[in-house]
Amino acid sequence: ARELPAVSTERSNVQAFERAQRVIPGGVNSPVRAFRAVGGTPRFIRRAEGAYLWDVEGRRYIDYIGSWGPMILGHGHPAVLDAVMKAARDGLSFGAPTEAEAELAEAIIAQVPSVQQVRLVSSGTEAGMSALRLARGATGRSAIVKFEGCYHGHADALLVKAGSGLATFGHPTSAGVPPEVVQHTMVLEYNNVGQLEQAFAERGHEIACVMIEPIAGNMNFVRASVPFMTRLRELCTQHGALLVFDEVMTGFRVALGSAQSLYARLIPGFQPDMSVFGKVIGGGMPLAAFGGSRDVMAQLAPLGPVYQAGTLSGNPVATACGLATLREISRPGFFDALAARTRALVDGLAAEARDAGVPMAVDSEGGMFGFFFAADLPQNYPAVMATDKERFNRFFHAMLDRGVYLAPALYEAGFVSATHTEADIAATLQAAREALRQG
Ligand code: PMP
Repeated sequence: ARELPAVSTERSNVQAFERAQRVIPGGVNSPVRAFRAVGGTPRFIRRAEGAYLWDVEGRRYIDYIGSWGPMILGHGHPAVLDAVMKAARDGLSFGAPTEAEAELAEAIIAQVPSVQQVRLVSSGTEAGMSALRLARGATGRSAIVKFEGCYHGHADALLVKAGSGLATFGHPTSAGVPPEVVQHTMVLEYNNVGQLEQAFAERGHEIACVMIEPIAGNMNFVRASVPFMTRLRELCTQHGALLVFDEVMTGFRVALGSAQSLYARLIPGFQPDMSVFGKVIGGGMPLAAFGGSRDVMAQLAPLGPVYQAGTLSGNPVATACGLATLREISRPGFFDALAARTRALVDGLAAEARDAGVPMAVDSEGGMFGFFFAADLPQNYPAVMATDKERFNRFFHAMLDRGVYLAPALYEAGFVSATHTEADIAATLQAAREALRQG
């Protein structure tokens, strides 16, 4: 990798942050980037290549965020860059259909048997919001179920926390969301079969869909248990509710067939009814998608009564980027290698923690991982929030000081790319050894 000139005091992160804060709320265009959870000054990034980021001071970091998931090939993969550059030269946006959009749709469908048709959009939020509208339109029902700790983007109806009682409707988690807008959203505890059964018993006939992150990456890394997922599928089928997998994070990241392929291996015949994708399918450009059976997707405009649209939907440059990315990750052995590297990282972290006498629980699937300062892996949001936050924050900064960039909040998953080498993992574990001993 091309090294950048060393530290330039004129362009410090502190100065960049001060400048940004004057003109951008909190200095950032997405809240978690501001380091509020961990404290300190966010790093302003100038450039990335492979597994590395360089900040404005010229400092290098091993990147375990990967733009929060998309950069599965690492930064600046030559085939991806070529595809993007070629597409850009042919035109940045047309507002008319292209063959590449069908090609990307085919590439997604080829790996995900539950999806017969997809529509491309520009962000995970948009995809989740549209999937929700479609599920409501297709079922003629209003109620929806989500789980505490899962994030599905910032559409009003999905910014909801649990109500006081079981299966009561939730409360907005954001100002500006009227209570009436979330009155149809039920929030249940993740991995709690009893609550799920009670919710369906009480309101099953009203539920349009259940939206779930099959491996929840917005509460660090929590898998939906197989008994929970099995029961969820049964209840949805029995009550005519659609099961919507939010695979914005897990899609083409935990396996080529996404998280649903893992559950299909464990639960005979398992498929969700609809799926939402983002991140990896855009390879770092603004692109996301939602899809499902031909019947459900036929409810969408222009075929059906559910309206959804986008000026930049299926953008040719983003589509080319996504296609090139999917082509690379479809190569034989890609996921085995990525999964092994990611496993080496989390197993190594666990070993360092053990040596240091620090409780740590770890998990990974494909190129996605989580680690908790706790003796056991949490199974739901309250358990995640009960892990040692102070220690996480100290560890985060100790790692950052040593050139390792982890997600700046304990409720975020981490990502390894195909460009992370054994040496990068070893350097990360050496940093972790020092950081853990520091306290
Ligand atoms: N769903 C999940 C599971 C996500 O992790 C995210 C974003 N982290 C979203 C939806 C929203 O995607 P976007 O940020 O592209 O709007």
